[in-house]
Amino acid sequence: MGEKMTRQGVPFERLKIASFDFTCCEGCQLQLTNRESSLPDFLGLLDVRNFREISSERHDDYDIALIEGSISRQDEVERLLKIRKQAKILVAFGTCACFGGVNSLKNRHPVEELIDEVYPGMIIETLPVRKISDLVKVDLSIPGCPVDKGEIERIMVNLVTGSLVTLPKYPVCIECKAQLTTCMFELGEICLGPLTRAGCNAICTSGNTPCLGCRGPAEEINMTAFFELVKERGLSLDDLHEKLAFYNAFEPFSSHEA
Ligand code: SF4
Ligand code: SF4
Ligand code: SF4
Repeated sequence: MGEKMTRQGVPFERLKIASFDFTCCEGCQLQLTNRESSLPDFLGLLDVRNFREISSERHDDYDIALIEGSISRQDEVERLLKIRKQAKILVAFGTCACFGGVNSLKNRHPVEELIDEVYPGMIIETLPVRKISDLVKVDLSIPGCPVDKGEIERIMVNLVTGSLVTLPKYPVCIECKAQLTTCMFELGEICLGPLTRAGCNAICTSGNTPCLGCRGPAEEINMTAFFELVKERGLSLDDLHEKLAFYNAFEPFSSHEA
């Protein structure tokens, strides 16, 4: 895909990669430059063709495009379509790109009302928020708010070696229990860990904060049983609906009623 290199005598081609930000906080792109202990090895896998946060060079001959953020303006739609034409592999990178993310909270209100409230008297162009797959074909989704650098490193090695790219199918509870963390339900809190795809090493619950589901649904979740659990514990269904809506990651289940 890119420049030929060898590592320990084994030839490999660096990934010709570009990273683009849309409506987001850029926290996911920032993760790419984290973990200094492994950063030289990680960057050694990549031929960075376009990545505003780390290089002033701009090249259009990339194979892999990381798309960070959701889409909330018309110029973003046009930029995304152009990137899709160039990229062989288009990656929805982070929760905003995969699901809409926190930006989607805007969709709960008429856009005109929000502009009047936040930017009174100003002309602001803003559209309802859409995730990347609402507009173009997505080849690979890497969720997380932000993405997990360890997971990104593993996926990049998979791509360099042509291996199957997989995400954990099991829920956050598995990673949480492996750390012997006291369950947030025992502390009277609603935690979305049983519904949410693992891969973050249960970073929130191990810090005594309930999971809000930023990585989206795990495989084969049982939403009915989860609603029953919340009811049995005497916890608020309104709070549950609020949590499920926070990242827009459980939108396919939004019609679920207890
Ligand atoms: S997913 Fe979270 S960290 Fe990543 S860009 Fe969106 S808001 Fe920022
Ligand atoms: S705290 Fe959350 S993630 Fe951990 S076991 Fe309880 S429900 Fe699962
Ligand atoms: S614990 Fe839940 S909210 Fe926290 S990073 Fe993991 S998936 Fe996201």
